[in-house]
Amino acid sequence: MWRSSPERELAASWAADAAAGRAPAAEADEPPAVDAGAAGEPERPAREEQPKAALQTPARPRAAEEGDARVPRRLPPALPLAPPRPAARALCQLAKARGRGRGCRRGSGSLRPVTVDSSKARTSLDALKISLRQLRWKEFPFGRRLPCDIYWHGVSFHDNDILSGQVNKFPGMTEMVRKITLSRALRIMQNLFPEEYNFYPRSWILPEEFQLFVAQVRMVKDGDPSWKPTFIVKPDGGCQGDGIYLIKDPNDIRLTGTLQSRPAVVQEYIYKPLLIDKLKFDIRLYVLLKSLDPLEIYIAKDGLSRFCTEPYQEPNPQNLHHVFMHLTNYSLNIHSGKFIHSDSASTGSKRTFSSILCRLSSKGVDIKKVWSDIISLVIKTVIALTPELKVFYQSDIPTGRPGPTCFQILGFDILLMKSLKPMLLEVNANPSMRIEHEYELSPGVFENIPSLVDEEVKVAVIRDTLRLMDPLKKKKETQSQHPEKPVTGKEDLDCEMTGDPDSNPEAHLPSICLKQVFPKYAKQFNYLRLVDRMANLFIRFLGIKGTMKLGPTGFRTFIRNCKLSSSSLSMAAVDILYIDITRRWNSVTLDQRDSGMCLQAFVEAFFFLAQRKFKMLPLHEQVASLIDLCEYHLSLLDEKRLVCGRRRRPQSSPPQEMNARTQSAAGSLAPRMIGANKLPHSRHALS
Ligand code: ADP
Repeated sequence: MWRSSPERELAASWAADAAAGRAPAAEADEPPAVDAGAAGEPERPAREEQPKAALQTPARPRAAEEGDARVPRRLPPALPLAPPRPAARALCQLAKARGRGRGCRRGSGSLRPVTVDSSKARTSLDALKISLRQLRWKEFPFGRRLPCDIYWHGVSFHDNDILSGQVNKFPGMTEMVRKITLSRALRIMQNLFPEEYNFYPRSWILPEEFQLFVAQVRMVKDGDPSWKPTFIVKPDGGCQGDGIYLIKDPNDIRLTGTLQSRPAVVQEYIYKPLLIDKLKFDIRLYVLLKSLDPLEIYIAKDGLSRFCTEPYQEPNPQNLHHVFMHLTNYSLNIHSGKFIHSDSASTGSKRTFSSILCRLSSKGVDIKKVWSDIISLVIKTVIALTPELKVFYQSDIPTGRPGPTCFQILGFDILLMKSLKPMLLEVNANPSMRIEHEYELSPGVFENIPSLVDEEVKVAVIRDTLRLMDPLKKKKETQSQHPEKPVTGKEDLDCEMTGDPDSNPEAHLPSICLKQVFPKYAKQFNYLRLVDRMANLFIRFLGIKGTMKLGPTGFRTFIRNCKLSSSSLSMAAVDILYIDITRRWNSVTLDQRDSGMCLQAFVEAFFFLAQRKFKMLPLHEQVASLIDLCEYHLSLLDEKRLVCGRRRRPQSSPPQEMNARTQSAAGSLAPRMIGANKLPHSRHALS
């Protein structure tokens, strides 16, 4: 299915760009940040990515590349932009010439410029400033008394209290992409769709699954004594290789002290990575989550490849601790002494992904297939993350209350195996947007200097994200979808009527580097969105606005309204199920804020109920059938309520209209019962 799919088309166009060397350079690393506010705790101070001394790395000053979020280093006022390169200079001149033309343009004409609050941008500030200049939008570096159109946060949704506009972070995203949470979300999907989700290494959560880990490894070894696996232990919430180590034997896990206080994920180590110049490397790709509901995903055409600095060997007891051989983190390798800085996109220790593809293509590799596999990996990963994000979202921005809409740039870290299969390493909620790198002037003395590769990629990603989020463009789109609404701004009308290409406010900009992959390819992936539909049910029964956990009454109501109790499942048994599962989940999750059943616990209960009801089917069909059943009963209930409500308020709508709607709904319900895909139970229009 995937092979001849539209992803292949998109991949083909990207691959062609890459092969022609058209795509821009890029790379970055990410900062750890705690979205404390989203968790309902007092906001913790923003942390920034730090260079970590993993394994045996010498302690050194932090790498510019990987840090983010902490120090809002502003460019000196006199030097707000990096000196333009020839191409950029030509663009500037073109833009200036165009600026002298007609006035139907933001910044130069009477159309109001988009306003952006950059006061919390932190380490993405430099790249943001350049983007805003290119767009000719208005920046408010110290915030603004009046609302802005867009708020650019360096760390989390909660950096500012915002009631309107758009903000570049989703509530709960930082929490969702932590190593443990991500592993849990992907594991649910692996249970449902093992084939589709085999791009994430087998992982165990420590300390709670330590015994399971030991037992499973022993079992496989007993079956195949030649199996000599390696595992990688990664502390939860860590980044930049912080605290990571490799082991050959489960008993080598350092279970003492820190593990209890700092949980971790232990994962199968991918021991056959694709090598270039005998070096291991990984890929940083930028992904824009433009909207949660409806789901909209964009992928940047290019990414960055970060290289190790010591030739790779398969892990053995002698090299297990060789950081520069096994870990691709920029923040570590920059200190190896063999790190090669280069302003060329295709050489050095940090290169563009397109340059890698170009090289692979010249060796006959099918790079369209590589791209299409990567697109698939990204869409599937986002599908695994969205259910819980929706729960966070409705908790922070309840329906009916004022609040901003959200979007977010994510950093996907991907490893290509020797077989060219992409494997997901992790997702970063705050990929570093620094556009400078650290340069070692003399041993131990570092200076930050502009990085051309970083600037080109990161500025393009930020600028084009803003273009996609442009509130004035959105307004126009809405107007074109509702032609009966008059165009309010005379300028808009003028621009559209003249058809003058010079009146296009984006004429001076390159084509957008972000490509839509969802809903574009929704048809191929919608069948995977079962947990999303479970989350819609969960949210419906949450009841109290702002909560993220289901109380016992909510769970009972869910069972009753969906008609799930029976002679073999009494309400007493339902209560026991609730208590059992909720207690277990509350003991393993870090989040002890409020009592009740979290989404994962609900999903587990749902699986249990599905298995009981539809014994003979494979798991994903059991679950899909139960969702269909629940949605069917709830839609009947909604229809009933609708009819009752209208009977009570007979004047509210003409009787003919009521009859027509009721009839059409009733007519469509019966066939919906089997194989129903999705009913709009989501109470929230998540942006
Ligand atoms: P961090 O957030 O600390 O950077 P990552 O999960 O990205 O943690 O891991 C750090 C590095 O370790 C990766 O960039 C990659 O080079 C290597 N790595 C991580 N997981 C694996 C794995 N399962 N197999 C092989 N290498 C891995």
